[in-house]
Amino acid sequence: MPAEEVLARLRALREGDAPTRGGRTFAYVYDAGLDGLDELAAAAYSTFATVNGLDPTVFPSVARLENDLVGAVAALLGAPGAQGTFTSGGTESIMLAVKTARDHARAVRGVREPQLVLPSTAHAAFHKAAAYLCVEPVVVSVDPHTFRADASATAAAITDRTALVVASAPSYAHGVIDPVPEIAAAAAERGVLCHVDACIGGWLLPHLRRAGRDVPPFDLSVPGVTSLSVDLHKYAYADKGASVVLYRDAGLRRHQYFAHAGWPGYPVVNPTVQGTKPGGLAAQAWAVLRHIGEDGYTALAGRVAEASDRLVAGLRGIRGVRVLGEPSAGLVALTALSSGEDHGGGGGEPDLSLLLHLADEMRERGWYLQPQLSFDGLPPNLHLTLTPATVGQVDALLSDLGAALEAARALPPVTADPSLTELAAGLDPDTLGPEEVAAVLAFAGLGDGPGGGLPGRMAPVLVLLDALPRALKERLLTEFIGSVFRI
Ligand SMILES: *Cc1c(COP(=O)(O)O)cnc(C)c1O
Repeated sequence: MPAEEVLARLRALREGDAPTRGGRTFAYVYDAGLDGLDELAAAAYSTFATVNGLDPTVFPSVARLENDLVGAVAALLGAPGAQGTFTSGGTESIMLAVKTARDHARAVRGVREPQLVLPSTAHAAFHKAAAYLCVEPVVVSVDPHTFRADASATAAAITDRTALVVASAPSYAHGVIDPVPEIAAAAAERGVLCHVDACIGGWLLPHLRRAGRDVPPFDLSVPGVTSLSVDLHKYAYADKGASVVLYRDAGLRRHQYFAHAGWPGYPVVNPTVQGTKPGGLAAQAWAVLRHIGEDGYTALAGRVAEASDRLVAGLRGIRGVRVLGEPSAGLVALTALSSGEDHGGGGGEPDLSLLLHLADEMRERGWYLQPQLSFDGLPPNLHLTLTPATVGQVDALLSDLGAALEAARALPPVTADPSLTELAAGLDPDTLGPEEVAAVLAFAGLGDGPGGGLPGRMAPVLVLLDALPRALKERLLTEFIGSVFRI
């Protein structure tokens, strides 16, 4: 196929996607709104596209780029002596921090059956790491009003087996900052490591501080914090595949590395999960960081804060909408209330059906807001990640939100079919056969066949999912995504 046609086909595939630029997609994408930035990142990537970062003795340029990137993070969030690693994303950074803590606890404290103490709002990546690495998660409920981690309950959950304690700055789900100094102090008192998940806030918060906003202490300068993750592909506006994990010192980072000399091939030492490592990802992140620069990031952080202030003020004026907690920066979670009587404050209960109708109505109006289901007593909500490109969209968003909410109220409520929830209660997720799975998926409107695949409106599917027991939910999610990737 000629190159032009290949590219035309790729461009055509993109037409069915949510837009990644323009500030109407409120999850997954980060738009600095800067002309030429995408072109710069692409050119930097292609300069290094053929380079393999696996071996810095053959490609010393990659060591230079990664040292510069980790150095930039350490200058912003580190402490003297901090060392780190450039990784492919937040999940990999977190995976490595958990592996480091597990191996450190084994080597230094003789812990054989390690535990991970984390607030219920910690990112799912910690549960993934725990599952991959055979570490037992110990989940601590958060404050149901502020959505912040409960420092004393966290301290009480620490045992002799705890390898790592987690705090978020901020949490993805609600955008609130956990009490990092208190949690880190409790961990330090027991001789336990403490990781701050600053994947989403790590680059934004220090620049918000520079822009004159109040930001509580959360980084490696806080006593007791021993590692931290920050994604450059979020508020540093690099393309996807760029994150840094930072440790208090080299002695800690050593536990992250994997070396192997017991095979006949080249001597292996991998700092990360990857073997072959794309040089282009470090190069594009390096280019974006250099190009925007400290003053550029400060100005962009100011725009995010402006978007957030205007959006939160506007939401508080919409009857029947409640903003959850005190959003610290770029993230806002809102819920819709059944009564619709009050402005923001008390009264009215979060209404799942209404909320999901609202998300569907907004999607029909060209906005993607991310549904998040209820968990551990925390209400279902819609998540919005704000970027500089949001500023120009706030008024349009608020006006569409008001109209969409009215439209959602006029729709018949969606409820989980009681016969299905009853059926589901009797199913054992571990022994479900393919037919039973197919039946439940079809019931949910997600099956194969006519009308299968991805439904236009997600409310009926998500209401059902919300009502199912967790293990069954997880099994169905697996089957569903297996049906998306058919081959
Ligand atoms: C995005 C995010 C992660 C996971 O990062 P990925 O880059 O999606 O793998 C972890 N923690 C928080 C708080 C995040 O926002």
